[in-house]
Amino acid sequence: MNYISTRGTAPELAFDDVVLAGLARDGGLYLPKSWPVLSAETIRAFKTKSFADIAVEVILPFVGDTISRADLKRMADAAYAGFGDPTVAPLVELAPGRYILELFHGPTLAFKDVAMQLLARLMDHVLEKRGARATIVGATSGDTGGAAIEAFRASKRVDVVILFPDGRVSDVQRRMMTTPTEKNVHAVAVKGTFDDCQALVKAMFNDHAFRDRVQLSGVNSINWARIVAQVTYYFAAASRLGAPDKAVSFSVPTGNFGDIFAGYVARRMGLPIKQLIVASNENDILPRTVTTGVYEMKGVVATSSPSMDIQISSNFERYLFEAAGRDPGVIRGLMKDLADRKRFELGALWPIVKADFAAAAASESDVATCIRETKAKYGYVLDPHTACGVVAADRVGTSGDMVVLATAHPAKFPDAIEAITGARPGLPARLADLMTDAERFDVVANDLATVEQFVERVAQASIKAAG
Ligand SMILES: *Cc1c(COP(=O)(O)O)cnc(C)c1O
Repeated sequence: MNYISTRGTAPELAFDDVVLAGLARDGGLYLPKSWPVLSAETIRAFKTKSFADIAVEVILPFVGDTISRADLKRMADAAYAGFGDPTVAPLVELAPGRYILELFHGPTLAFKDVAMQLLARLMDHVLEKRGARATIVGATSGDTGGAAIEAFRASKRVDVVILFPDGRVSDVQRRMMTTPTEKNVHAVAVKGTFDDCQALVKAMFNDHAFRDRVQLSGVNSINWARIVAQVTYYFAAASRLGAPDKAVSFSVPTGNFGDIFAGYVARRMGLPIKQLIVASNENDILPRTVTTGVYEMKGVVATSSPSMDIQISSNFERYLFEAAGRDPGVIRGLMKDLADRKRFELGALWPIVKADFAAAAASESDVATCIRETKAKYGYVLDPHTACGVVAADRVGTSGDMVVLATAHPAKFPDAIEAITGARPGLPARLADLMTDAERFDVVANDLATVEQFVERVAQASIKAAG
C-alpha cells in the first residue's frame, strides 16, 4: 500500500516512510492510495478477539510488505499490555442503547495512549531496521504531549520535544509531560495558544533544511499511523454490539479531527456506522461548518475541555480530499483561501459533508449540566470532553445503539469536575506520585527561530552521542 498527499505534489511513500514523515513536503497529509475493505465474516469474528488481535487485522492491510504480521502482532501485544483494563477499551452501558467507550485506561488516562503506544513501537522498529534515529517535535493542547512522552521515554532512537501552550493545560496534563526524568524527552511551554504551537510545528516541517538536519518526525494526529491505530476501537466496540449485522452510531469529542476521521476510515473499510457525530465544545468551527457550509476561523476560547480548544482541525483536510473525489487541486484552493482569508466555502462539497457527519456543540453550561445529571442518574462521572460527546449525542438524537467515545478519565481534569460535582475525582493508584514528583520544563517565546534552536541543540547532542 502506497500513500499520496492531499496536496498532490509530494512523492508517494510506503507505510514505513509515512510513519516517520508526519506532514508531506507539499504541506499536505498522507492518505493510503485505496481503502481496504474487511469482509463481514472478519468483522463478525472481532467480537471474541483481543484488542491487540483486532488491531493487527485492521492495520495489516495498510502496512503492505513493510512490516510482517508477526512483528505487528508483537508490537500490538506490547503496546496494549500496560493498559489498566484487560479489554483495553471497555464498553459501559449507561442506559439501554447508550454506551460509553472508555478509551482512557492507558498510562496518561486519555485515548491518545491507544495510538501512541503502538506508534512508538512502530517508529522504533522502522528506525532500527534502518540504523537511524529521529527527533520528534509535537504540539499539544494537553493530552498528546503526555502520551508521546510516556510512549517514547524508553526509546533509544528517538528524542521528543513537545510544545504546549503555557498555562493552558491542566496540572495533571502538565505533570505527565514534565515529571518523566529520561533525557530524551523534553516539555517546552510556549507563550501562546495551542494553535500557535501547532503553527510552529508546521513551520519546522516546512523548513526543509532544518527538517533534514535534525531528522524531524511527527507524532501529532496528522501522523497516519495514529489514525489507523484508532480505527481499531470502532471495530472492537461495534462488533461487540452486533456489527456487521447491525449499524451503530458514534459520538466523538473532536478537536483536530483525527479521532473522528478514524471513524470515517472504519466506515470506508466496511463497518456499518449509522451516524458519525462531530461533538465540539464552544470552539465550534466544525459544527458551524456542517450547519452553514462555511469553514471560518474565530478566536479560541478556553473551556473545561482544553484538548478541544482548537480552531484549526488539521485532519479535516484528509476528509475534504475524500469528499472532493481525491482532487488535490480542490484542496490546494481551499487551503489557499484559509491561509489568505481565514475561511473557505464548502460549495459543492457541503451536501457530501452533511451526509457523512452530524454535528453539535456543547456550551460550558451544557457540559456542567450533563456531568451533574449523568452522575445523579447513573452514578457515572464523565470528563468534560466526554460530556461534549454525550450532549451532542442527545442533541442529534438517533434510533439504535449510540456509542460515545470517552476520550479522557475525569481525574485528568479534577478542578473542572470538582467545580461541577463538588467531589474531586482521585487518580488511579498507579499515578500516586504524579502530583509530588519534581517537574522539569523550559519556557520559550512564541518564536520560530528560538524553538528551532532548542530542537537543534537536542538533536545535535544525540547525533554526537551516537557517534
Ligand atoms: C485530543 C483529544 C480530543 C480530540 O481528538 P482529535 O483527534 O484531535 O479530534 C478529545 N478529547 C481528548 C481528551 C483529547 O485528548
